[in-house]
Amino acid sequence: MDGFAADTPPFFPVTAGLPPRPLHVDLPPTGFEEPLEGLQQETLDLVRRFARDVLRPEGAALDRLTPEEMIAKGSAYWSVIQRHKALGLGALAEADLSPAAMVDLQSMISEELGWGDSGLAIALGGGGLPTTMAMRWGRQDLLEAFPDTLLGSWGITEPVAGSDMLDWERAAAYPQGDYSRPSMMATLKGDKVVLNGQKSAWVSNGVTADFCSLFTTFDRGQGREGINIYVSLNQPGVTRGKPLDKMGQRAVPQGEIFFDNVEVPVRFIAAGPDQYADAVHDILCEANAGMGTLFVGVARAAYEHALAYAHERKQGGVPIIHHQNVRYRLFHMMRRTEAARALARRVARFNALSGMRALHASIASKVTCTQTAFDVASDALQMFGGNGMTKAYPLEKLLRDARASLIEDGCNELLSIKGGSLLVDTARL
Ligand SMILES: Cc1cc2nc3c(=O)[nH]c(=O)nc-3n(C[C@H](O)[C@H](O)[C@H](O)COP(=O)(O)OP(=O)(O)OC[C@H]3O[C@@H](n4cnc5c(N)ncnc54)[C@H](O)[C@@H]3O)c2cc1C
Repeated sequence: MDGFAADTPPFFPVTAGLPPRPLHVDLPPTGFEEPLEGLQQETLDLVRRFARDVLRPEGAALDRLTPEEMIAKGSAYWSVIQRHKALGLGALAEADLSPAAMVDLQSMISEELGWGDSGLAIALGGGGLPTTMAMRWGRQDLLEAFPDTLLGSWGITEPVAGSDMLDWERAAAYPQGDYSRPSMMATLKGDKVVLNGQKSAWVSNGVTADFCSLFTTFDRGQGREGINIYVSLNQPGVTRGKPLDKMGQRAVPQGEIFFDNVEVPVRFIAAGPDQYADAVHDILCEANAGMGTLFVGVARAAYEHALAYAHERKQGGVPIIHHQNVRYRLFHMMRRTEAARALARRVARFNALSGMRALHASIASKVTCTQTAFDVASDALQMFGGNGMTKAYPLEKLLRDARASLIEDGCNELLSIKGGSLLVDTARL
């Protein structure tokens, strides 16, 4: 009886009244999520069907096309955009859900779309980003001039200034360095803003969008300034480059936008020079948090493929899931995906509900979730062995898609320096 008190029996009837101990728990796609409310579950089911039946097969097919074929009239890229609109998710804004339940639902929708196909999810999310920002900033006039029936884009990076345009306040700048002359410039002429120059080849939907929320340097002779202005891309002076032929997320078309004396009414300015830094901060807050939730979906997709394959593929006469090391690796893929999801949801809630929009929170979500997506996709590919390398299986595409996310919306290292700069409290120095 060593180890037990004299009056303690060696066995305890603790299992009385408990359900049988499960040997296997089939988690729902939402992971360790408590049961959802009616509208949340219904909406998620709708989006999940769209992700499974539309985004996944169409994303895989678009991945094989040339960039020119991808954006040609009649391509599935266009029908996916229409079918997404037909889901009517915009009406959710009026739904009778608590603010927290609404934010959670938006996070789950983003994850589902990323699970379906991250390239198409970026095309849809990036396409709607200018509308989201105009709504947040209370710019009804911009919403009317650029209704959500049009396809949007966010143009900030330039050929000579990628990271630099995202680091407007120079939080990550080398002290002896100077940001080079921008690739495009806005000037004022009466009640018009005149645009000259170009944006980078990386603008998502850059070659297809109807309009752009343009973040550009602004010259009124008062040093380095910027403005955010909404610009129709179907007007004289605007031309597009060749669609980019790239490694991952091939279902989101990208390419340069050129501006040659393009005149835009000043009323389309969303943020003037005095609010420009705030606008960059705010859109990065939104975009980075969105990247977080979306790439949880990519991590989950990779994990699910690996889990299924481990039950099917036999080596040593048994499904490989019988090998301890395979179980160990699957467990860590599940754990990392779940941890990334928890952070992404928490950040989305914090930014929406705390009255504070913390860019370092959004960056933490983006950096963690994209790195998790890449790591889990890489581990999943390894679990597929040689099959992981072939286009007959989904892993090589998932890995390519996840790789792009470490650069997209700001390289993770630059973002991390920016995030760190927000921890500095000069009052304590
Ligand atoms: C899939 C995808 C989608 C995108 N969508 C859009 C979009 O919709 N709109 C848009 O405008 N742009 C978009 N981009 C562009 C993207 O934001 C840039 O590619 C990114 O910010 C990096 O810029 P860059 O490519 O010019 O690299 P550079 O800025 O040239 O960076 C090169 C390297 O130097 C490092 N570096 C640069 N500066 C610093 C610094 N100060 N401190 C430490 N390291 C530094 C970077 O981390 C990187 O490793 C997209 C990119 C991708 C891949």
